[in-house]
Amino acid sequence: MKLQDRVALVTGASKGIGRAIALAFADEGAHVGITGRALDELESLRDEIVARGVRCALLPADLAEPGAVDRVHGHVVQELGPVEILVNNAGMGSSANPRPVVEYDDDFWEKLLYVNLTVPYLFCKRVLPDMLQRRHGRIINIASINGKIGSLHGAAYAASKHGLLGLTRTLAMEVVKDGITVNAICPGPVHTLVNDLRIAYDARRLGKTVEELEATLTPMGRRLEPEEVAPLAVYLASDDARAMTGQAINIDGGVLMTG
Ligand code: NAP
Repeated sequence: MKLQDRVALVTGASKGIGRAIALAFADEGAHVGITGRALDELESLRDEIVARGVRCALLPADLAEPGAVDRVHGHVVQELGPVEILVNNAGMGSSANPRPVVEYDDDFWEKLLYVNLTVPYLFCKRVLPDMLQRRHGRIINIASINGKIGSLHGAAYAASKHGLLGLTRTLAMEVVKDGITVNAICPGPVHTLVNDLRIAYDARRLGKTVEELEATLTPMGRRLEPEEVAPLAVYLASDDARAMTGQAINIDGGVLMTG
């Protein structure tokens, strides 16, 4: 058990990568706070977590709403104790409103930047006082390869993920002597709802079928599964990774290997 009795908080846990991480943490003995908007999916996840013999705190929330971060953080601390592992995973994709910058929707830009970048910043701020006092903590930000390269018609998404890497590296510098590590995971295309929508948009744009496009998305010839990302989060959350901080680790089926 790599995370025995640690308290973790995973945002965007209802589905996809966040759900896989929450379950992998529970498998390693962590008590897990979960949040998202889809209550039925969160409740089924809670059942799966407690079946593993650990505790779970659930609070549904739309993180775009003011005060949601405080409510979620407060609930998890009350139910499980101070957060020792924070996974900022909740995120909006670009496919809800893809456009070139010249036609970009300003309201969509504001909302996406808030959910993908401001919310992680606020969660970091909330968990840090306890982590600093205990001289132990793990912060894992789920960024993207689009934190390192552009995303056609997805300027807000790419800007938010580039920004998340800036937050990761700066915070890592600030707490490097305090027993707290701050790292980012940069997935390539992962088989989840948000990526399904993006692929459907790109397939239409390029005049290809979804299957044709999917086969070209990574050198591996397929997308990753959420369960292939979760072990990296377990490693970063564990004591084994105590000397790794400020990193932005690609897990992308080789997309960025040619630079
Ligand atoms: P997903 O399956 O669609 O899950 C997204 C999660 O974020 C859901 O739990 C969703 O909650 C939550 N979320 C979104 N907006 C929210 C809001 N306003 N308030 C509360 N929760 C909200 O997508 P995913 O691929 O696992 O995405 C997880 C993270 O990985 C995101 O940060 C994404 O940018 C990143 N990522 C994904 C890929 C990929 O190819 N899939 C690649 C690189 C990075 P509800 O569904 O309950 O509303």
